[in-house]
Amino acid sequence: MGFFDDLKATAKSEMEGVKKNVKAVQLQSELNDLKREETEIYATIGRQAVAEKGVEVLGDAGVKLLDVQERILKKEAELSEIKGPAGKVCPNCGAEVACDMKFCGNCGAKIVE
Ligand SMILES: [Zn+2]
Repeated sequence: MGFFDDLKATAKSEMEGVKKNVKAVQLQSELNDLKREETEIYATIGRQAVAEKGVEVLGDAGVKLLDVQERILKKEAELSEIKGPAGKVCPNCGAEVACDMKFCGNCGAKIVE
């Protein structure tokens, strides 16, 4: 093989390498989407089971679930304590605005008392 043949062969194999990488990225992204969908289906099944048979049906996972739900409630309470009593809604963009704010933090609209 001459120099240019070598060059062509190198360029070709590099192209194939790039194509493989693109394909791999594409496949990885499709895989991630499918796994997310799978997780959502599991979540739906879990919610249905809990709704129908109670959290006990989940066994150890049920204990964990109750623990997480309790922590969510605590954090939500903590958060609303920091944010103050439930805020108002911006008449312009619909964003939540803290009670003591005169202007919307999102769009800057004046908040009417
Ligand atoms: Zn706004």
